[in-house]
Amino acid sequence: MPETKIVESTIASLWQGRLRYFEERQDQIVETIRELVQLESPSDNKRAVDRIAAFLAHRFEALGGRTKLHRSTDFGDSLQIDFGGKVSGQQKPKPVLLLGHYDTVYPLGTLASMPCKIESGRLLGPGVLDMKSGIALMLYAIEALQGFGGLPRPVTVFLVSDEEVGSRSSRKITEALAKKSAGVLVLEPAAGLRGAVKTARKGVGEYALRVKGVAAHAGLDPGKGHSAILELARQIAIIAKFNDVRQGLSVNPGVIEGGTRTNVIAAEASAAIDVRIKSAKQASAIDRKFRSLKPFDKHCKLEITGGVNRLPMERTAGVATLYKKAQGIASRVGWKLEEAAVGGGSDGNFTAGMGIPTLDGMGGVGEGAHAVHEFMVISELPRRALLLAGMIESV
Ligand SMILES: [Zn+2]
Repeated sequence: MPETKIVESTIASLWQGRLRYFEERQDQIVETIRELVQLESPSDNKRAVDRIAAFLAHRFEALGGRTKLHRSTDFGDSLQIDFGGKVSGQQKPKPVLLLGHYDTVYPLGTLASMPCKIESGRLLGPGVLDMKSGIALMLYAIEALQGFGGLPRPVTVFLVSDEEVGSRSSRKITEALAKKSAGVLVLEPAAGLRGAVKTARKGVGEYALRVKGVAAHAGLDPGKGHSAILELARQIAIIAKFNDVRQGLSVNPGVIEGGTRTNVIAAEASAAIDVRIKSAKQASAIDRKFRSLKPFDKHCKLEITGGVNRLPMERTAGVATLYKKAQGIASRVGWKLEEAAVGGGSDGNFTAGMGIPTLDGMGGVGEGAHAVHEFMVISELPRRALLLAGMIESV
């Protein structure tokens, strides 16, 4: 056999061996995910979130990680774990940052109506896909690399407590850790059932529009009032025109409130509006549009608050390079790894926005994130773990 052929077949059997390694541990990985799902952790319940942080600190410490809790008073604590990695020679390679979150969108007690269970090859439960499976993958990929001959480089894991509510307490830490890293792997769920990684994400914003009108008795003084509800309705019709689907810009007044009773002309009304943008440039343009809204009824006052919270994760050269590497690793086990651009934002938007190469959607494969049917496909776990381990080596 020619030498290159021998090298090729050695590499192929190495990766096949790794895949088998993870296949043998599939049940263990599922068990870990199940443990994490059982520890319910809604973003707004500090005590519950701190409990899962403590549980995970133990798990990562058992692998030799140095843990550090970043305390927060308004949200749960976020957890940083550092692994040294074997370093040969003088030059210490930069760490790779594995980014995740342990908060979920599900209130405490959701398990009663949405129990964690296996059904036809799928694991179900609140947060199973977004993103407790991603955290389990981190644990098993790190453990595997340690077994394969030692972590090849320093690894920093950062698990945040408030991703589902905008990452206000953790954003600065995420950015500081990203700055020191060679690259960021985000363990958010993969895109779709084909398991594509995410190379672009839209930017996300939220605005609130409050209207103050003038109250009056609807029966006795119908001419005297100035309805905040009517004014809001007219404003919403204007806001709907901000939509520019072809340019990847969408605006959704998702919640409205207002009025007190049917026989009172409403003095107050408000709308909460979700905004998605494809490019950073669109952020200031849409902001200007919101801030220049004028009342139709001169007796009504408008108040606009909010803004763009996460700029888009754009497919920069650094992002594309990481995707190419991931594709190369996947191809070792005959897997054609796809990429996708998605509408949702994640903490990957922050790190990519700083110019740090970021690959998102490295976590579990499934559907129904944030919904009652949320599930994760069990048989996909081994190759996701293999991909993560390979990427830790090659970022
Ligand atoms: Zn998530």
